[in-house]
Order: sequence, then C-alpha cells, then structure tokens
Amino acid sequence: MDNRCIHTYSALSNSPLTYRDLDQLGLERIKGIGEKSLTALESFGIHSVLDLVETYPRRYIDRSNMATLSEMQLGVDTLVMVRVVSSRSMRTQRGKTMVTVTVEDHTGKLSLTFFNQAWRDKQLHPGMEVAVFGKAEMYRGYRQMTNPVVDRIGDQTGRVVPMYPQSEKVRISSWDLARWITDALAKCEPRGIADPIPDDVVSSHGLMSRHDALRKIHRPDVVDDHLQARRRLAFDEVLRVQLMLVGKKSQWERESAGFSHAITGHLIDGLFAALPFPLTGAQRRTIDEIYHDLASQRPMHRLLQGDVGAGKTLVAVATMLAAVQGGHQAAIMAPTEVLADQHALSIRALLASLKIADEGNLFGDRSLRVELLTNKVTGEERRSILAGIADGSVDIAIGTHALIQDKVSFASLGVVVVDEQHRFGVEQRSRLRDKALQSEHGLVPDVLVMTATPIPRTAAMTVYGDLDVSVLDELPPGRTPIVTSRVSGPLEMEMMWSSVRELLKKGQQAYVVCPLVEESEKLEVASAQETYETLSSGELSDYSVGLLHGRMSSKEKEAVMASFRRGDLDVLVATTVIEVGVDVPNSTTMIILDSDRFGIAQLHQLRGRVGRGALASQCYLVTQHSDPSPRVEALVASTDGFELAEEDLRLRGEGTIMGARQKGQTDLTLASLQRDLDLIQWARQDAVRIIKSDPMLESLPILRDELDLLFSAEDEEFLFKS
Ligand code: ADP
Ligand code: MG
Repeated sequence: MDNRCIHTYSALSNSPLTYRDLDQLGLERIKGIGEKSLTALESFGIHSVLDLVETYPRRYIDRSNMATLSEMQLGVDTLVMVRVVSSRSMRTQRGKTMVTVTVEDHTGKLSLTFFNQAWRDKQLHPGMEVAVFGKAEMYRGYRQMTNPVVDRIGDQTGRVVPMYPQSEKVRISSWDLARWITDALAKCEPRGIADPIPDDVVSSHGLMSRHDALRKIHRPDVVDDHLQARRRLAFDEVLRVQLMLVGKKSQWERESAGFSHAITGHLIDGLFAALPFPLTGAQRRTIDEIYHDLASQRPMHRLLQGDVGAGKTLVAVATMLAAVQGGHQAAIMAPTEVLADQHALSIRALLASLKIADEGNLFGDRSLRVELLTNKVTGEERRSILAGIADGSVDIAIGTHALIQDKVSFASLGVVVVDEQHRFGVEQRSRLRDKALQSEHGLVPDVLVMTATPIPRTAAMTVYGDLDVSVLDELPPGRTPIVTSRVSGPLEMEMMWSSVRELLKKGQQAYVVCPLVEESEKLEVASAQETYETLSSGELSDYSVGLLHGRMSSKEKEAVMASFRRGDLDVLVATTVIEVGVDVPNSTTMIILDSDRFGIAQLHQLRGRVGRGALASQCYLVTQHSDPSPRVEALVASTDGFELAEEDLRLRGEGTIMGARQKGQTDLTLASLQRDLDLIQWARQDAVRIIKSDPMLESLPILRDELDLLFSAEDEEFLFKS
C-alpha cells in the first residue's frame, strides 16, 4: 500500500491519529502560535504537530518539593519558585550589562544578578512567576544568586511542571512549549492517538498505550508518572530501529543467493589437525555458528567480536578455508598495511602444512597460494597477483583497501573477511562483497566482519543490528594477566624506567607509545621523534631503540617492524600506528605516554599488544597530571574488553559509539543504550518475530508508514520496498 493512501484514509475518517497525521498537521492550528512563534519554532526544528508532541520535557519541577526562600541554604544548589518584584538594568564600570532582579515568595526576598544578559530586564517583568535554580550567596548583606537558571512557569497549575528545552536565542520559553503542547494534545483527544504496535507486544511488556504515554510524559500527575511514559516511548524508538535493521537484513537474505559451502573436507580437517593447541570453547562455538551459516544458501553476514588476543585469526582462517576447499577464493581486508602484513604472516604460518588437490600437478596436490595486496606491492609483482586473483589461482588474498580497487577482479570469491577495527564503513564492506558479484556465477559471498573493539551488547544490537553476532569471550589459556599501573611524577617515572631496564636486560622487549595529537599528525610525529631522541640518549641509552610512525614509508615501517620482531631492537618508540596488528610475544612492556589523552578503547587496544606470550607483561599508563583520569583508572581496574566497553559507554554516553555509522539511522531521543538494555532486547526479539511472519509489515500498515516517515530516504532504500 502506498503511504498517501494510508494517510488519506486516516485523515478522512474518525480513526485515531497516526504520526503521519500529526506530521501533516501544521503548527498554525495550535492556539497561541502566531507568525512569530512559527518562525521561532521552525528554527528550533519544530515544523509540525508531531515535532511538537515529540519535544519532551528535559525535567520536571515538583512544586510540592521546592524550597521556600526561608528554607534555602547558602552555597547549595536550590530550586525556588518565586514572583518577580522588580528589575533594573545598569552598566558596570567595565562596560558589562548587569541586570538585577528582585524576587520574592511568601517567606522572603532574594536578589538575582545577571551579567551580559541585557534581555533579562525585558523578560522578567513584575508579577511573573518563575522557577529559579542556583546557589545563593550573601552579598552586601543580601542573599543573591548570580546567573541562575530561570524558567518561566506562567500560570500553569498542577503539582508537576514540565520543563522543556528552551532556546534563549529564538525566545521560546518552556512555558510557551507547555501551553502549545497541552493544546496539541487536547486537540488529539476526540480521535485519540493511534497505537501502531500490536496489542500483544505492548501488553506483554506491561507498557502503556502510546496515547497515555504522550499524555503522561507531558503532563504527569506526579513526577514519577513520566518514567513509565518514557519507557513506552523509548520502546517505540528502539523497536523502530530494530524493525529497520532486521527488515534490512531479512530483505538482503531474501534477495541474494549465496554459496552453500561444504564445511567438512581435507583442508579444514588438516587445519585443525595441525594446530599445536586445542581450540578454546569460544572458538569452537563461534566456528560452529559460522559453519552453520556457510553451509546455508543464505549469505552469511556476521560480526565476530573478540577481545585482543582472543584468537580471531584462526577463526578467520577456518572460515576462509571453507571457500578454498570448494574451489573458490577468500579475501581478508585489513584497515592498515601493518595489520595486513601481520595477517599475512600469521595466516601463512597457519596454512604452511596444508595442501590442496591439484589435477595439473604430477603429485596431485599443491600448497595454497596466499597473496598480499597493498599499495606498496607494485610492478610485475602486482600484475602477477592481480592476474592470479582474476584467474582463480590465488586462493586467499590478504590486503588493505587495495583489494576493493576497480582493477581487482576475483574469479570466484566465496568468503570475505573484513577486519574492521572500527575503520571501515558499511560502504567499503559492501564494495568487497560486490566484487564477488562480478564473477560468473554472481553468488553473494559469505561475509565475516571482525572487530577487536568490544562494544556493549546493546550497542552491538543497534550499531551492528543488521549482522548476526558471535562473541569470542574467552582468551586462550596460558596467558599471564597484564599488570597495569598508573605512573605520574618524576619519582614514579624513574622507578618505571628502572624496572623496564631490568626486563630489557633479560632480553625482553618494550613499546613506548607517544602522545596522541588528534589535531595534527605532523605534531604527533614530531613528538615521537623527540621522545625517541630523549630516550635513546637518556633512560634507554644502553639499549637499541627504534622509531615507528605514520609518516614513514611502508618500506621503512616494514624494516623497523622486522628488526623489532627479530629482536635487534629492544624498544620500539611509536605513535598509535602500532595500535593494531603488531604481534611480538617477546615484547612484555607497554608504556603509554600522556595516556589520559587516549580513549578507553584505544588504550585497551594498545595494551593488547603485550601479554601475547607466556611471559608476565606490564602496562604503564603515564600521565602528567596527578589527578586520576577516569579512563586511565578504568584500565588499571580491568583487562576485560567488554567490561571496559560498558565503562566507556557510561563515561562517554552513546553519541560516540553510534558515531558516523549510525548517523540518521536512529531516532533515539529518549532511549538510552545504557539504561534501556531490557527495552532493546525486547525490541530485537519482537522485531525478529514480526519480520519473520510479515517481512513487508503488510498487516501493520500504520507501523510501516511510521518507519517510512521517520527514517531518511537513504535508510529507506533498504526498507520495505517491494
Ligand atoms: P586476535 O586477532 O583475536 O587479537 P590472534 O588471532 O592474533 O588474536 O591470536 C593471538 C595469539 O593466540 C596468537 O599467537 C595465536 O596463535 C594464539 N592462539 C589462538 N588460538 C589459540 C588457542 N586456542 N590456544 C592457544 N593459543 C591460541
Ligand atoms: Mg589478530
């Protein structure tokens, strides 16, 4: 059904109002909104009655719970409800405007002083009721608040006053919004507001109706009423997101034909037989999950989350071999050259003893052809690799984004592994997948996305909601936990260097990571250079120190890494280029300078470069300030990536996690990845169930129309379009 049909139908009838109806109701219908307010609301992003009722209070004032002026304590943030008595404006000697307003309640008076807010004089006129929030101090014998938060209450009655986000610039007060929203909701009463979500879903979670939720979030009888209302509206938000993601996934699975890989055979058996260690339980479980997908005709689209050192490479290889065994190819794409190199090393090592049947060969078998394709591979070598990829003689291609360039064409790409590390976007991922479609059979390859940055479950469900998720939550046995300490001040620094020297003397190696300079790679390199020089002539003058940074050529980087791997260098001073991919088990010490400049995830990644062998490892987080940074403290307290991810979410809020990937894909206004774990899990399950029985949401036209309305065209491309 077309959107417009739904709308026409609904607008003409007396059926409850949908969000589409509210979206098409102009603001001029609301009592008290004139030309001027219309313009102001527009600039505030409020264009329709829907936008208006979706503008939720930021907080509530419980009138029964406020201090009177006589109860107010000095120096303590207090909320008081007062009446304006008088106001006057003057200039200070330094030319600032100062507005002084006297307010009172039935117990006393208070003076409010505003600097550089000349408009307050006009805003606060005698007789007006306002809520004032701030700290009172004594000034010349009077109680005074300087630059307090002032909310106009107007003549609202009721115990609870909703406080809306206000904009001083466009002069929309909380009071105006409250009046307009009250009128908008009153106008909705006769027809009621439609509930697009099936009754059984709403009631199974004990949620209230949408109409009730809108009433109660805007006009709660008692403050706590808004909590239940918020839950209902937040559930709607997360359900919409999940329906979109699950819908997208389901459509993609319906519409694409994939490989049905054989998951037993000599290559896979040979890989496992040759392993010097048993799989961890988590590897076994994950490989089972992946093989289940590989065997199915439905293309795999799976995320493998695993902490640093959890053993993802082996899982990736086991996945790729399924394709190779069936006569197809596999590719693994890494975000940096260093990481691609590292993958090439470890993958070749895992495959060294394996042979594949080869009819053209006298002995009937051959080794696998594994090639590395990055931008530094040039000339004849590059031509030969490209030709091998095109004619199918390259079994496994390892590379950077060089793999998705136009010249690369696979004979038959069956499995794609993307080592994402938060560096590739969805687009690049799908470009590699599209490479496969150019081959003759046009089958969609199975895709495994790997990330070493654990993200909290709720965030994973939202950020990667269009993928199935496997979690490697178990480290291989035999690792000694990394001991992490915070170091600040010259004394602690000296102690650190002396214990580092002890370890170097024993033949172990160390990394020194230089301060992150977000704004400029040039400055970052300069600081690394300086650190390198200072250390090699100072604290570490008896040892051989190397330098690695992002401005070196690939050749130089490679040479430095190689000599560090060989043990020719004792210490590697580096910028964050070593964040991923460097794997030198003999390196047991990680020193991170100015560690409070890094984020939790990055610190965790860096720390993960040590603790890779059986030797005890240590990580020193150096800070210039002696006050503890919460992020550094989190690293000292835990080595569990998932725990740290939760902490990161708590410290930073969700914005950063959602990042660019999620731009425009969510309308999470009320819902919180942190607070609403249960809602997100419910929504995920409900969305899966709903889409399974009704992929195009034909039986839920209002809900489907709401998704069309609320998600952008770009999101919709994937959505419910037949
Ligand atoms: P990740 O890519 O997840 O950071 P890797 O795949 O690089 O981790 O593995 C880290 C190290 O652990 C490698 O040296 C690898 O050989 C080793 N390893 C992997 N799986 C196991 C296992 N089941 N038992 C012992 N060691 C393992
Ligand atoms: Mg790895």
